[in-house]
Amino acid sequence: MKIVVQKFGGTSVSTYEKRMNVVDKVKTALKNGFSPVVVVSAMGRIGEPYATDSLLSLVDTNFLKNNKVGTDLIMSCGETISAVVMSSDLEKSGLDAIPLTGAQAGIITDNNFTEARVLEVREKRLKNIIAQGRIPVITGFQGQTEEGYITTLGRGGSDTTAAVIGVALDAEQIEIYTDVDGIMTADPRIVEDANLINVISYNEVFQLADQGAKVIHPKAIEYAMQGNIPLLIKNTMSDSKGTLINYLGDKESNKIVTSLTHHSERIQVLVKYSDNENSPKYKDILPIIAANKISLDLINIFPKEQVFTISSESKDILVQLLNSINIKFSLVEDCSKITIVGSNMKGIPGVMAKIISTLNENNIEVLQTADSHMTIWCLIENKNIKNAINLLHKTFQLYN
Ligand code: ADP
Ligand code: MG
Repeated sequence: MKIVVQKFGGTSVSTYEKRMNVVDKVKTALKNGFSPVVVVSAMGRIGEPYATDSLLSLVDTNFLKNNKVGTDLIMSCGETISAVVMSSDLEKSGLDAIPLTGAQAGIITDNNFTEARVLEVREKRLKNIIAQGRIPVITGFQGQTEEGYITTLGRGGSDTTAAVIGVALDAEQIEIYTDVDGIMTADPRIVEDANLINVISYNEVFQLADQGAKVIHPKAIEYAMQGNIPLLIKNTMSDSKGTLINYLGDKESNKIVTSLTHHSERIQVLVKYSDNENSPKYKDILPIIAANKISLDLINIFPKEQVFTISSESKDILVQLLNSINIKFSLVEDCSKITIVGSNMKGIPGVMAKIISTLNENNIEVLQTADSHMTIWCLIENKNIKNAINLLHKTFQLYN
């Protein structure tokens, strides 16, 4: 039995016309000798009646803060509706489909509601359904605790569902269908002439996904990589070949940079020794912040200064904490972190220099940088982000 998992995102299942494209993709898989397993997200985006955010807006914000079981239960409803509607459309097209919740598909998670982690997939029921020649249509984004409470897997978690199901069923491949042709050299909403990437490594995509490119969830990459199952990112609305994600990536490519992405909502924090000479806590700032579970990044420690960034969500708690230990500091708000990824940049001199000179020549101030073997990060002001990404895209010749 050759299994393919086919996951369809919210925009791909939002209307009857679009769901007919889904039916086509399922029929193509069958024609090619695969047993398809379908995973669906909730229909549409915010504003549309069955999208997750629309469902959340039905209940009180205090309820959402305090009632974890109820929050995950309402958050999971969009996918349940979608799986039944999609099954109905598949049946109408002559296919034998059976809608299943995450729980019915055997997905067991921990009880970290709204961001649950998959512990195991009990795949027996799924295997029986597939052996009968039926098509399971599984709700993405959902699982169930050992005690039987419905959980959700975090935003973008339907990708994770597809990956864990793919691994549990030892699928030939996992196909992630979305509203773009595949993984591009930059978000096409930011760079108009962004280019489709044909092949890319798990590691490169993980960096991109983890640093803001929402085209696929980073956890899905991790699971697929552990199971060594190739991932394909494709467009529901076209016959584009899409992007293949595997261990090797594009070994033929001579491009130094593969793709760019960014995270906004960053704040830079500067703590100078000269302002804190009399503070006994100056040397312990990082451990104190860590003990308060505030996550930091771009951390640079110098003898006379400590610099790092936080997400804007953490601002209030960090300010309160540093004040409480009498540390003087300053903040640069409204920053964005650009991430430049390329497995070929390792050992090539001058990549950082090229980035800095491109930004400097265009009067974009670089607030901070960091690098590892296949990634460079650059902190700049939010207002420059679109311009900076477009300029770097050009500098590294990623356009069509
Ligand atoms: P879905 O609902 O199908 O899961 P998402 O909205 O989560 O779709 O992800 C698709 C979106 O990801 C695209 O519309 C695109 O704007 C965005 N995106 C960001 N970075 C990239 C990239 N490098 N390549 C392709 N798409 C990207
Ligand atoms: Mg998504």
